Amino acid sequence: MKARKFAKIIRDKIIEIETLSDVAEQSRSVVELDQQSVGRLSRQDALQQQAMALAQERNRKQELVLLKRALHRAESGDYGLCEECGEEIPEKRLEIDPATEICIKCRD
Ligand SMILES: [Zn+2]
Repeated sequence: MKARKFAKIIRDKIIEIETLSDVAEQSRSVVELDQQSVGRLSRQDALQQQAMALAQERNRKQELVLLKRALHRAESGDYGLCEECGEEIPEKRLEIDPATEICIKCRD
């Protein structure tokens, strides 16, 4: 069944992203420690790195929200229907982005 197949894919993705988040958080604190003890990076480099890390974290958070909504849909049984027109979203599109909420026609 489609919903069950994608529920598993989505759960795996959520775990993957949460793991990435954890790793990123750990490496962020490592960078902070490094700077305090060695001062290897210039302040500007550090700020740039921090901004990038924060942007990545924001993207991950956003994706997690979408994935969790998709998981909820998959578990409640109305997964894979376009939010705009109610038509079924082709499985190929869902495989590329399991969190997608609208079909190609409505996106364009
Ligand atoms: Zn549609």
